[in-house]
Amino acid sequence: MSKANAYAAFDARSPMKPFSLERRAPRETDVAIDILFCGVCHSDLHQVRDEWSGSKYPLVPGHEIVGRVTRVGSNVSRFKVGDQVGVGCFVGSCGACDPCKRGLEQYCANGFIGTYNGTDKDGSPTQGGYSTSIVVDESFVLRLGKVDRLDAVAPLLCAGITTWSPLRHWKVGKGHKLGVLGLGGLGHMAVKLGAAFGAEVTLLSSSPKKKADAARLGAHDFVVTSEASALAKARGRFDYLIDTVSAPHDLATYAGLLKLDGTLIIVGASPTPLPLPAFSLIMGRRSIAGSLVGGIKETQEMLDFCAEKKITADVETIPMQEIEKAYERMLKGDVRYRFSIDLASLR
Ligand code: NAP
Ligand code: ZN
Repeated sequence: MSKANAYAAFDARSPMKPFSLERRAPRETDVAIDILFCGVCHSDLHQVRDEWSGSKYPLVPGHEIVGRVTRVGSNVSRFKVGDQVGVGCFVGSCGACDPCKRGLEQYCANGFIGTYNGTDKDGSPTQGGYSTSIVVDESFVLRLGKVDRLDAVAPLLCAGITTWSPLRHWKVGKGHKLGVLGLGGLGHMAVKLGAAFGAEVTLLSSSPKKKADAARLGAHDFVVTSEASALAKARGRFDYLIDTVSAPHDLATYAGLLKLDGTLIIVGASPTPLPLPAFSLIMGRRSIAGSLVGGIKETQEMLDFCAEKKITADVETIPMQEIEKAYERMLKGDVRYRFSIDLASLR
């Protein structure tokens, strides 16, 4: 066992506070990791504040983890001490069901083990990356290779893969018009990846001030969603629209922006249901779909692709102690475009 310094939520309303937790001694196939940076996902905020219900306290969030290997178990074959590695949204799954066998552990029929707010195989609660170390089975550890800015790579472990996976699944690329709704952590990665795959990308945002950034990130067009006339002009335009909005919003409006046979892909996880009138799909034979993070194999492919193309997240790196301020800015849509926590602030 070893001690880790962390920040935890103790209930849904109070600010997060320093917390000390025990990490297990590495078992045969485990890798012990010193965490260097951890991205701040809106899912952390949803769970800290129990917006999806089911949060268990004390809760140490964080599933965009990058760090360095400090110890390996006796049967670890893929990692050695000193390697730069990543850990994403889950740290275990059954390995035997059909989705697991297909490398889609996030859809494990027996439930994946979340990196935090989950229950490990030994029955203990899992605790995430707002901490100085973690111990994870090597099957759920990703290889980073040599990267310069680890703080900017951390968000690839959730924001990156959550947008990569649906873009790859639906084979979005050249010849497609892709809309991205919401320019936050997920949205900015969807723009970068969509553009890298050759799609014509339009960013749809409630914040007119993000227009220049959208273009810099690779978007070819920008639509302000609060302007009825701009939205009306975009009707029937997109083959795919990836919806990253974290709060309730009007799906019918956005379904109406799809072409014949277009698909609205929901990745944003609004805490309350989003009503959808039947006619917004019937007209235009449109589809609505959802997508959850990504499997280990595709996460490694995404990391390798991003390393080769030099794609990282745009980050504001913060000390752990500024997490509440970061959450408040996130709630205002004022994230440029991911906070990344420097865990040196807890050492
Ligand atoms: P984020 O950085 O806070 O970005 C969300 C963006 O949505 C905001 O920047 C804002 O963009 C827009 N937005 C927020 N509230 C809005 C409102 N009331 N009306 C209209 N637009 C609004 O969050 P994130 O980390 O990217 O996460 C986005 C969502 O995806 C969260 O719900 C998160 O839990 C979920 N998520 C899902 C998965 C998955 O596997 N499916 C994985 C990770 C995260 P503009 O200012 O441009 O409008
Ligand atoms: Zn996330």
